[in-house]
Amino acid sequence: MKSAAVLAVALTLLSAPAFAQVPAADVATAADGVEAQVITWRRHLHAHPELGFAETQTAAFVAGHLREMGMEVREGVGKTGVIGVLRGTAEGPQRVVALRADMDALPVLEATGLPFASTATGTYQGQTVPVAHACGHDAHIAMLLGAAKVLSGMKDRFSGTIVFVFQPAEEGAPPGEPMGGARLMIEEGALENPKVEAIFGLHVVPGVAGTVFYRPQGFMAASDRVDIVLKGRQTHGAWPWRGVDVIATASQVVQTINTLTARTIDPTTTPTVFTIATVNAGVRYNIIPDEAVMSGTLRTFDVAQRDDLVRRAEAAVDHVAATYGATAEFSVRQNAALVFNNEELSAWLAPVLTEAAGEGKVNPATPPTTVAEDFSYFQTEIPGVFYHLGGTADGVDPAEAAPNHSPQFDVNEDVLVLGVRTHALSALRFLERQ
Ligand SMILES: [Zn+2]
Ligand SMILES: [Zn+2]
Repeated sequence: MKSAAVLAVALTLLSAPAFAQVPAADVATAADGVEAQVITWRRHLHAHPELGFAETQTAAFVAGHLREMGMEVREGVGKTGVIGVLRGTAEGPQRVVALRADMDALPVLEATGLPFASTATGTYQGQTVPVAHACGHDAHIAMLLGAAKVLSGMKDRFSGTIVFVFQPAEEGAPPGEPMGGARLMIEEGALENPKVEAIFGLHVVPGVAGTVFYRPQGFMAASDRVDIVLKGRQTHGAWPWRGVDVIATASQVVQTINTLTARTIDPTTTPTVFTIATVNAGVRYNIIPDEAVMSGTLRTFDVAQRDDLVRRAEAAVDHVAATYGATAEFSVRQNAALVFNNEELSAWLAPVLTEAAGEGKVNPATPPTTVAEDFSYFQTEIPGVFYHLGGTADGVDPAEAAPNHSPQFDVNEDVLVLGVRTHALSALRFLERQ
């Protein structure tokens, strides 16, 4: 009896957490407490959208609220990026986890008819353009601020550090900028001091309100821009043999790329789209020009397979050009890396998201999607998981709902409180990991 009792105590000591887990019910109560505030924030941000790297008012708004919550705040990390650092004061492991929201709006003329619809303008490619939060980043900022408020109100109940990353310019590098917001924030130390171990982020998309979905490994496509320049020798259209015909060569190149993609890649495991979308050559019906310029987009879900396909496509284009006596310049520029959800962390996260969303609301094995997200760059530095939150209005078929980037895109505000819970619980449970 005595030794069994000692063993039981020893086992309890071994398995007991260093401190009590914060119950999900407490997080839910706190989230309910900030819900009205989060909706007010979202409406304010929605009415005042700013383009990528021009989010100055948005950044000041975010930084002001984080300071009110008592956080250490760093501004100007990646031009208009903001970092908030919240340190738990309980005894226990000293993990560091980050939560990320993006802040930029789009050059879109809003047509939602909402009372707080945007009438803002901005400058894009030297033009004055209408600006709207047509991708839901207003909701992302509001939800992460809500989670910051919930977590700062319970900092004596967890140990470790939570880094809040408010990122500018998610929608790609603005014209003339070498990179977008995620890469620039990383270059400027967003994941250092304190050194972040893991990162979580979310996006509102068409889907049944209250559902959460993602998949391990490749979730959102890597996006590459491909440019091909073929050089031949100009000749009369009646005498093609006296020059090098880049028109015939260009059509062979398009066929070769289509066939290469269709016939050498397993579409069941690594969906791949390789589209040549522009072909520009020639000015007159009876002159074969000396140059053809093509461009396209490549969407992939596996880094090694993407690298291999790029290598083989370049070799194939070179061979096709050489066959006809032409030369080819083949270049690839990455627009966004693959959103690659760490496998172990993806499995770990599913029950945590279920605590936040409820049984049957979380799908951790959704199909991949060919749109891209620059959250991917955080995931190339540290393990992370990116998930989607269904945000379609009640009674509307998500398949019929206005998609992100549409002038009619809107977010069901009922899901904001869920995003507060998923953010808060993913951070808390990560810090509580032994
Ligand atoms: Zn977008
Ligand atoms: Zn977006």
